[in-house]
Amino acid sequence: MPIRELPPQLVNQIAAGEVVERPASVMKELLENALDAGATRVELDVEAGGVKLIRVRDNGGGIPQDDLPLAVARHATSKIGSLEDLERVATLGFRGEALPSIGSVARLQLTSRTAASEHGWRIEGDGHGNYAAPAPAAHAPGTSVEVRDLFFNTPARRKFLKSEQTEFGHLDTVVRRIALARHGLDLELRHNGRPMLALRGSADEAGIARRLQELVGPEFIEHAFHIRQISAGLSLSGWLARPTFSRSQADLQYFYVNGRVVRDKLLAHAVRLGFHDVLFHGRHPAYVLYLELDPARVDVNAHPAKHEVRFRDSRLVHDFVFRTVEEALAGTTPQVAGGAMPTVGPTSQSAHQHPYSDGQRQGSMQVGDMLAAYGALHGSATEISPPGFSAPNLVSPESGVPPLGYALAQLHGIYILAASPEGLVLVDMHAAHERITYERMKAALHQGSVVTQPLLVPTPVPVSRREADLAEAEGEALAANGFVVERRGPESLAIREVPALLVREDTVKLLRDLLADLAEHGESRRVGESLERVLATSACHTSVRAHRELTLAEMNALLRDMERTPRADQCNHGRPTWTRLSLPELDRLFLRGR
Ligand code: ADP
Ligand code: MG
Repeated sequence: MPIRELPPQLVNQIAAGEVVERPASVMKELLENALDAGATRVELDVEAGGVKLIRVRDNGGGIPQDDLPLAVARHATSKIGSLEDLERVATLGFRGEALPSIGSVARLQLTSRTAASEHGWRIEGDGHGNYAAPAPAAHAPGTSVEVRDLFFNTPARRKFLKSEQTEFGHLDTVVRRIALARHGLDLELRHNGRPMLALRGSADEAGIARRLQELVGPEFIEHAFHIRQISAGLSLSGWLARPTFSRSQADLQYFYVNGRVVRDKLLAHAVRLGFHDVLFHGRHPAYVLYLELDPARVDVNAHPAKHEVRFRDSRLVHDFVFRTVEEALAGTTPQVAGGAMPTVGPTSQSAHQHPYSDGQRQGSMQVGDMLAAYGALHGSATEISPPGFSAPNLVSPESGVPPLGYALAQLHGIYILAASPEGLVLVDMHAAHERITYERMKAALHQGSVVTQPLLVPTPVPVSRREADLAEAEGEALAANGFVVERRGPESLAIREVPALLVREDTVKLLRDLLADLAEHGESRRVGESLERVLATSACHTSVRAHRELTLAEMNALLRDMERTPRADQCNHGRPTWTRLSLPELDRLFLRGR
């Protein structure tokens, strides 16, 4: 075949292959256009999963009459005008491809009115690249885009569409993801005339929490806490679910960069690392996170659908996200009132009659004894001030009674029962002790450098030339991780020293992974993670096994340790270490109205 230029309709259809995969991707493009136009309210109507109709109506800035033909022309955009603009683009779109692409695989109708215009204008395409001149049409300020009969002229692509319900499911997911990025947006979504989603825009915390609940579900909210960190021109905020609420799928992970939905490997990796030793193996964390930074520091032109982004200083971003998440999770120690999200149901602040308040002196003597015993065990009792134990005080969390309260008894050698101002605390002794031991071992580990052990006979490692070069260049980073490696030839290395704790592990594999990490992320936590894994196993074996009798003093010592230990809310395997039955919950159990 001779070389020839492709006809414009075919060019648009090829471009549509990248941006228009299914109804959901059409919805994404139209919704993003509405947001770029400054809309604060959108109405979305969908028929037959979006194959028959997708209509997006917005109250944004609108398109002037003369610009309507340009809006559907290829490579025409109002969002950038130069390479400089491209390098700091702050809008969601900028390629000028979406409307012409959609218009080449469906019947497209665009009706729009600017604030300055007295009425709207409409332009309509036949799906074969022909558009009639704009005609007057009634419309409020803003824009309506209608997309009918998706892929009617491209049967091969239509065949790939799934059932109406499946396609609507994808579309619904896209809408929810985008809605999560804009707390202030009013949004209505209808499918075949039935209301599916109705969201009010909100600026206050309670409203945003309600919206979040609607969009990602109430379980997430119950287990999530809010974070916010700003440093080096980067801001990360949002919600992390406590590790005990992990998922078997990575289906509850929302990440936004400057308000754009992204599915980025670097960011997902950084968050997962942040959860590294609080999640059960194979489980996935749940989160909604917003990263904000100067648009000039991120390249969004890395993917046609713009799911992936490229950071100019990716190491810094990776490290910032990782550390912020890790630190936030380190704070998951037992608290009086749970996380920062509004907790459901009443707290103990209301004037509940406390079990101690009927005058039974189960009180001061015993608590005094416990403190003394605790002091004897740990060399000093000064870390906890005597609680001033009197009945009325106990009702308030400010009374000085520690969050996990004081031990009452041990049940079946497995659980510790404790009384706290809020009710009954139940602790899984083994799980709790395991976490405490592990965190201590880790702290000791991080105080010193990695102890290495020279090998009697160096282990040869065949590698690629690239890996060998990298090992040479990153010698210092490897040494800091406990590996002393020398180059034996163009494609061979030899390991001379390894981290002492890991001699019995597969150090060759570890070295390869380490090199891969250094190549991709410029840093690696592999060795740290392997060390932590070894420690976690040994913590598990050295911790109190179930069925050991503890004295009250020992139990209280354990409770106090938990309160001071980072990540003490879950054991090394991500199981919870304690739970609480509040007084209102106990009252409900006994049908006791107050
Ligand atoms: P891009 O968003 O990359 O610029 P599109 O093909 O999606 O390309 O849109 C082309 C142009 O049409 C946009 O640059 C914008 O000027 C205009 N446009 C599209 N949708 C809307 C809308 N809902 N409101 C106002 N203008 C719009
Ligand atoms: Mg667009």
